[in-house]
Amino acid sequence: MKPRSGWHVPMSDIARNTINPIRRIVDTIELNPHPDKQMIALSIGDPTVFGNLEPAKVVVDAVVEAVQAIKFNGYAPSSGTATAKEAIAQYTSTPEFRVSAKDVYICSGCSSALEACITVLANAGDNILVPRPGFPLYQTLAHCIGIQTKFYDLLPERGWEADLEMLDAQIDSGTRAIVVNNPSNPCGSVFGKEHLRRILEIAARRRVPIIADEIYNHFVFPESEFYYIASLTDEVPVLSCSGLTKRFLVPGWRMGWITVHDQNHVLKDVRVGLQNLSTRTIGANTLVQAALPTILSDTPAEFFSATLQLVQANAEIAFKRLSEIKGLKPVMPSGAMYMMVGIDMARLPEFETDLQVVEAMVTEQSVFCLPGKCFDLANYVRLVLTVPQQFMHEACERLAQFFADHYVQSDADPSAEDVAVGRADLEPAVTSDVRRVAGVGAD
Ligand SMILES: *Cc1c(COP(=O)(O)O)cnc(C)c1O
Repeated sequence: MKPRSGWHVPMSDIARNTINPIRRIVDTIELNPHPDKQMIALSIGDPTVFGNLEPAKVVVDAVVEAVQAIKFNGYAPSSGTATAKEAIAQYTSTPEFRVSAKDVYICSGCSSALEACITVLANAGDNILVPRPGFPLYQTLAHCIGIQTKFYDLLPERGWEADLEMLDAQIDSGTRAIVVNNPSNPCGSVFGKEHLRRILEIAARRRVPIIADEIYNHFVFPESEFYYIASLTDEVPVLSCSGLTKRFLVPGWRMGWITVHDQNHVLKDVRVGLQNLSTRTIGANTLVQAALPTILSDTPAEFFSATLQLVQANAEIAFKRLSEIKGLKPVMPSGAMYMMVGIDMARLPEFETDLQVVEAMVTEQSVFCLPGKCFDLANYVRLVLTVPQQFMHEACERLAQFFADHYVQSDADPSAEDVAVGRADLEPAVTSDVRRVAGVGAD
């Protein structure tokens, strides 16, 4: 080896290619909030940021107890302790849908569960299918290790159901997995049983396993029902990812898991792979693992319903008010904690992209939503619905003002002169499509 003449320490290719699209976009946005208006950030998918949503007391106590026991400071088995795995298996199981402790792999949050699933199934050069709009982490995790992603669309006019023809057509010989995120971030949609069965039918026919991002399991409004996709198939192998993060309101605790569903024993190799991958970090936080049996079985039902009530009330407030605003088309969610709102860019000639609209909403109204671009869908913004109700009201009024200031009526429209919005004598800018979506979404 030639002697090195100086220090040259570049970052690796993996590090260079690890790009979180949200950060890349958000970091380029000019955020200059209006000095006289308090910033309302409807941007971050962290239910704890406003301080209005706290974890259940029994959950906090269980972790305190685990700390004080001084029994959980050592290493645990890298894929999780037997007791924590058993607790997850019981939490996930129903009389018809059995999960056993040997099917559980504990990870540091749902993100690391997803990382393990993508890494265990695909090699560099292979591809995985991901939803559009969708959570951008799938691309971050895949691209840095040379795995490609191919999109299948979710359709707003069908309550964000997947475009099944497109899903089928995107599968090729290099496809190693279909990522299904239900309930959806960013859409807040919840797939019905029939739709999940159709996705499974394609996966079965094409013999592609499913990675189910089910971090919002049970996080659905009372009219909707959540089904684990794995509970609807006796053929398709499924790796389901979930965790405490969203439902238990503790994102920082980094507790997630994979449950393996494999009725025909085709994932023997993959199980070994998941075990191997778990040794990279030597396992997840032992204190939270110790508290898991209590967390998962003793959190009162009222705790979950209180969170859902807040989110649903905010969804209804936002949907009703934003439907009245010319230039906006909200799509009513059925779960999770988000709402996607379409922007009629043709009527906002001052702006070229949803990103510019987002910037101007911050500058003029101090309301910050993530642009659809973060989720690979142009001309939408995503609203976070976990904020205190008065902020939701206030944000909607400010958006009304913003669109009153910028919306330009079509020339063809007889009321072209009158650009005031939200007034009772004007037709709300909600199309029959959106109304239909609201109904379909509650499937
Ligand atoms: C929040 C979120 C995650 C990540 O969860 P962590 O447990 O914090 O890693 C994964 N998938 C989706 C769709 C999410 O919204």
